[in-house]
Amino acid sequence: MRDFIPVAEPYLGGNELKYVSDCIESGWISSVGEYVIRFENDFSKFCGTKYAVATSNGTVAIHLALEVLEVGEGDEVIVPTFTFASTAFAVSYTGARPVFVDSEPATWNIDPQRIEEKITPRTKAIIPVHLYGHPVDMDPLLQLARKHNLYVIEDAAEAHGAEYKGRRVGSLSDVGCFSFYGNKIITTGEGGMLTTDSEEILEKARLLRDVAMSPEKRYWHSRIGFNYRMTNLQAAVGVAQLERIEELIQRKREIAEIYASLLRDLPGVTLPPEASWAKNVYWMYSVLIEDDFGPKRDKVMTGLRERGVDSRPFFYPLHTLPPYNGGEKFPVAEKIARKGINLPSGVTLTKEEIGRVIEALRELRR
Ligand SMILES: *Cc1c(COP(=O)(O)O)cnc(C)c1O
Repeated sequence: MRDFIPVAEPYLGGNELKYVSDCIESGWISSVGEYVIRFENDFSKFCGTKYAVATSNGTVAIHLALEVLEVGEGDEVIVPTFTFASTAFAVSYTGARPVFVDSEPATWNIDPQRIEEKITPRTKAIIPVHLYGHPVDMDPLLQLARKHNLYVIEDAAEAHGAEYKGRRVGSLSDVGCFSFYGNKIITTGEGGMLTTDSEEILEKARLLRDVAMSPEKRYWHSRIGFNYRMTNLQAAVGVAQLERIEELIQRKREIAEIYASLLRDLPGVTLPPEASWAKNVYWMYSVLIEDDFGPKRDKVMTGLRERGVDSRPFFYPLHTLPPYNGGEKFPVAEKIARKGINLPSGVTLTKEEIGRVIEALRELRR
């Protein structure tokens, strides 16, 4: 058992080194290379989409998706207030305004019942975020999008392989966006991916990712583009990670089961959701520390650290952060964010280590 149990760590025990060595030996280390193409093909197959476009990280994958859909100045994009900041930042990069929606108590995700009241003539798109590995209830959201003629971009950065009614996230809307940061379900160090079934979106995403340089006419740029490319080195790691993704997700779900069995009789702790229509991939094992637990969330985190257990607080709702604080109130998100904590969730976590996390929580409860 480790002295200090981390929240997450990458698992690099497969072909990662072999494929990276291959890049270095062959000299193909930049963004042109076989592994980029292979990673895109393998990842689209995994998600059940026709196409995928690899990017340098998840934040720019969302920005790229918005640029492809021509979202810009004067437009509004609906996002959950309870998400990682990148979801809203990507909207702000385009000059559009993120419009926040409260969370659904049952799943902690954007509340589909609260979206329509935020739609205006300026609304261009909705970005549902599959938070902590649990898919958003997409059907009512997609119905609204159709009714109001809006694009839907899934932020699936935390939910590779999660399923909604048997279909994988990233394949449920116009565009899916993923992250391969070091603590995500699979990693490339830094990296991202855009998934789609639309050939038009595919071509435009490739063009804009590659500084909008004409594929036919070198150094001819018909508009302003971006360098959002992934390197062959990153993709080599990604291909190796993807070979084991089923195993990694299975392990995440096993960890969740062990936690759930040990936490069930610990009052004051609310376990993470899994709706009947959902397959949660438990990116993080996330719980709510309720008021009747005794010490508040921050005290619990300090107590865990003293006992050699790392943890993370939930995100601050974005409407409470300086760039977006307009005095709005979102009571559900605020409550979840105040109580939420991510417990150690790395795939190398042992049953004994989970036992120690639970023991520490038991000691802290009053
Ligand atoms: C990690 C994450 C991102 C951003 O991905 P990066 O690769 O870190 O840029 C976006 N949205 C959510 C919900 C995330 O968790």
